[in-house]
Amino acid sequence: LERTFSIIKPDATKRNLTGAIVKKFEDAGLRVVASKRIHLSKAQAGEFYKVHAERPFYDELCEFMASAPIVAQVLEGENAIAKNREVMGATNPADAAAGTIRAEFAESVGENSVHGSDAPETAKEEIAYFFSGLELV
Ligand code: ATP
Ligand code: MG
Repeated sequence: LERTFSIIKPDATKRNLTGAIVKKFEDAGLRVVASKRIHLSKAQAGEFYKVHAERPFYDELCEFMASAPIVAQVLEGENAIAKNREVMGATNPADAAAGTIRAEFAESVGENSVHGSDAPETAKEEIAYFFSGLELV
């Protein structure tokens, strides 16, 4: 079974959508194997999103990710990385397929409710950034 890293973003935690989003994961066959609610500093958000440092939305993205608590999770399942991205839907909710998390819950291309790793290598790095070996069973 594959593992991927997920964030329920501030726009979603603020609107009390954590359970509704986890239900989407579970309905798709993804299992939550680690979970914690944390409030990132802007510097920590910046480190996590450093691949986007040159993008015009980087500063806005880091402010947003540090604006309220997030829920960081590890999801496990068959083809978990691809399955999670399918359940999330397109980055811009205007383009997201019906029934996906972003189609139902996202507010804008920036405040789009969830993050999900895009490849095995990034999944590994992102899981290690948020969880210690002792927290992963
Ligand atoms: P994520 O990496 O969060 O799972 P993604 O892979 O669909 O989303 P990326 O292109 O990696 O999207 O962008 C990372 C995040 O940056 C997006 O999820 C969104 O929050 C923000 N973002 C992307 N494009 C824009 C934009 N044009 N304006 C504002 N914010 C944006
Ligand atoms: Mg991405």
